[in-house]
Order: sequence, then C-alpha cells, then structure tokens
Amino acid sequence: LDPEEFRRQGHMVIDYLADYYQNIEKYPVRSQVEPNYLKSHLPDSAPCNPEPIENILRDLQKHIIPGLTHWQSPSHFALFPCATSTAGFLGEVLSTGFNVVGFNWISSPAATELENIVMDWFGKLLKLPGSFLFSGGGGGVLQGTTCEAMLSTLVAARDQMLRKIGRNNIGKLVVYLSNQTHFSFQKAAQIAGINPSNFRVISTTKDDEFSLCPNSVGSATIADVEGGLVPLYLCATVGTTLSTAVDPLGPICNIAEEYDMWVHVDAAYAGSACICPEFRHFLDGVEGANSFSLNAHKWFFSSLDCCCLWVKDPSALIKALSTKPEILRNQATDSKQVVDYKDWQINLSRRFRALKLWLVLRSYGVVNLQKFIRGHVNMAKHFEQLAAMNKRFEIVVPRKFSLVCFRISPSAMNQNCKILSTEEDVNLINQKLVESLNASGHVYMTHGVIGGIYFIRFAIGGPLTDYRHVDMAWTLIEDHADASLKAS
Ligand code: PLP
Repeated sequence: LDPEEFRRQGHMVIDYLADYYQNIEKYPVRSQVEPNYLKSHLPDSAPCNPEPIENILRDLQKHIIPGLTHWQSPSHFALFPCATSTAGFLGEVLSTGFNVVGFNWISSPAATELENIVMDWFGKLLKLPGSFLFSGGGGGVLQGTTCEAMLSTLVAARDQMLRKIGRNNIGKLVVYLSNQTHFSFQKAAQIAGINPSNFRVISTTKDDEFSLCPNSVGSATIADVEGGLVPLYLCATVGTTLSTAVDPLGPICNIAEEYDMWVHVDAAYAGSACICPEFRHFLDGVEGANSFSLNAHKWFFSSLDCCCLWVKDPSALIKALSTKPEILRNQATDSKQVVDYKDWQINLSRRFRALKLWLVLRSYGVVNLQKFIRGHVNMAKHFEQLAAMNKRFEIVVPRKFSLVCFRISPSAMNQNCKILSTEEDVNLINQKLVESLNASGHVYMTHGVIGGIYFIRFAIGGPLTDYRHVDMAWTLIEDHADASLKAS
C-alpha cells in the first residue's frame, strides 16, 4: 500500500462516486439486464499482470453499472430503504481504511469503547429503558443484520432455558411469531435447533391491522404448556416488512413474563423513526422485552451493514457465545473490565462499525436526523393523499410510517369491465401494473400479499428523494394504471 498511489486512486474513486450520485437519476432504477449478462463482458480468468485503475473504472462504468439496481436512486421505492449519507459513507471509508479486526478489547480498544458509547447514545435517543444500556447493566452491540441479532439472542435464550430444564429437552422448546414476522426468524430458529413443529406461527387479521393479538399468544402458550412443551422465545415486530404493523409490546411481554419466555423486538425498519417523540409510543412496552434491534442501515443513514442490538442481560449472550482460546488471552479480558464483542455475536472477526454511527450522529445531530425521518413520512402522507384522491385506487392498510400500501381497487376494475372482476383479476392487474412500472426504469416498487390481497408497496426513505420524485412516480402510476385498465 503506497500512500501516494493510495491518495491518487482514492481521489479518483471519490470523484467517480460523486459523479455517480450526481447522475444517478439517469440510470434505470431497477437493473434491466438479463440473467448471466456479465459473463460475456469479462474474461474467463483473472489477469496475470496489473491493470491501471483507469481501465478498471472504465469497465465498472460500462459493465457493472448496468447490472446495478440503484438503491440510492431517489426513485427507489422498493422493499425498505437502505439509506446511505455522506457521514455514513465516510464512516464506512474510515473503518475500511483502518481495517482493524476488533474481536476483543485489546485488538483495538477504541473500536470496542466507541461502540459501547454510541450504543448508549443511540439507546438514550430511543428512550430505551436504562436496563438496555451499559450504564444500566445491559448493553448494545453492532452486528451485520437482523438475522444475526435474532440468531444470537435466540441461542442465548435457548441455552439459558436448557440450563434450567436440561439439554435433552431441546425438543420441547417453542418459538412464537406472527404470520407477518420477517421470514429470517424461522431461518434463525432452524439454525438454533428448534424443532420446526414447534414454530407457532400466529395468524393476524385485518381488524388488528395485521399485528399480533395478545389473546392468540395467550391461547397458544397455554395449549403448549398443557401439552408438556416449553415457551422459549417470542419475536415481536415494530414495523412488519409487508405493511409496517406494530405488535402490542406491553401485553405480549406480560404474557411472556408468566413463562419466563424471552421477547425480542425486531424494529429493523421502523425503530429509527422512534427517535422522534411522535413515533416513540410504538415502542411502549419495550421495557418488558429482553432484546431490541433495528437496522441503522435501513433508515438511519448508516450504510450497509449496521444492525443495532440491545440486550438487558449481556451475560446470557456471553454464556452462549463466548470462546476462550489461549491465543486471545490478555490481561484486559482477565481483568473483566472490558467488553469482548466476539462473545456477543456469532462470528469472531468484526468490523469497526461504530465509526459510521458516530459520524452520522455527530455530523447531522439529532435535530437533522429527526428532520430527515419526518421529511420521508410527510412525503408518504402526500403520496397517500394523491392515492386517496383518485377513485381508481385504494389504500390497503392504514399508513403508520413512510410506507404506503395501495392497489387498483376492485371497483375501478368493475367500472371498466363488462363482467364483475374476481379478486384474482384484481390481483393480476396490480401485478401487471408493478411489472410495467419497474420495466419503465423510472421507478422501482415491490409488492406484498396479505390475506390473498396483492398490493403495491411504496416505501420512501432514500437520501435523495424529494416531492418531485414522489409526484413523478404518482403520475407514472396513474398513466400505467390507465393503460392496464384499458387493456383489461
Ligand atoms: N425484520 C424486518 C421487519 C425487516 O423488514 C427486515 C428486512 O427488511 C429484516 C428483519 C431482515 O433484516 P436483515 O436483512 O438485516 O436480516
């Protein structure tokens, strides 16, 4: 690594990316390439001799950019946002630049200590109970993804329970989730060795806006206990993936307490909004949970990956996940005065993620972070009003944050067609609408299906998105819907 060459190439890459952001609206939002497109553009084997960065950047522009879906495009309304920012990007660059491997305190004390501090800062911003903070006996850790956070807390809960009931009773452990819980939870439960027949997937209804009903949780746990099984872990969600439903944390945690069951709160997307006082009530009841996580790389401008996990009892994690190899033995660990984050996560090596969270918090300050989030929510309200004003559309579930779930309504189809449409016809026309919108390259949206209803999700959260992009998207939706209705 030659510092001068590093400086020269580094400047070129930053310039390249600045131009990329300046021109991002010129690219089709969702990549339009066909599968295996890249093979024909690149050689079969790696080069023997060095190639100049200029050539590599030229090929990047020519062959890689067409195969990118532009997640930071202001017209990317698909899935949930994965927002970066200048501070998030620079934090990531600094972290990569130092490239420290902070698995334990001694391997890079600042990496661990900054993480301890920013996790307490962020926890305070969210008004998490003191028991989730280092200052209150709990603590936070930065992991890669929510899936990892679910898995690590699940194995902590599993081992804690098995210490009580005996390891050979693992087959009796039951996990609870709703039919709206993110699919990665079932993967985590599978990896943790929970018997798949003990996954209680509780149905939700439109009346409860697709949130978990405490009575259903209560009945399920009673039936399991009567059947000789052991309630272990419940995954509650604040802001479900399909429709941003919020599970009622207080009543659920009360039920869990009766059985000493671990409650994890997955607030991957919506958790960040709770730094605004007007959204904080969605976390009411979190004080009864054992762990809480959100993805700062979704809606906290912190660049992939940055999942923030707080636990009340770090010792449960440590008992399940710690390793003590001689090669890592050191005085700081022996003194028990430091956090060794390798014992709070699945993997050993870890990146210095705290830097980007620190830069985001310092560069923008709480006031601006709240402003960005409110800005996205207000644009979603605006989009919702546009959809509500047009009789051909309907809002499928009430909006809570910056996601609007809508569809061409059955009545619009019936006005247009001679024979009465079935729910299947309505689903099909909405499916065609999303496909044609995405094929246009001007926007990217994804869909959801709840209770047999196919709907379109319009998720706002891009760092460059403004009202003009929302208005443009709405005009496009109206035009494409007109064409689809005429053709039906
Ligand atoms: N939980 C919720 C509510 C989500 O919306 C998502 C992804 O969108 C996840 C979990 C999965 O997150 P990750 O990819 O970080 O595991």
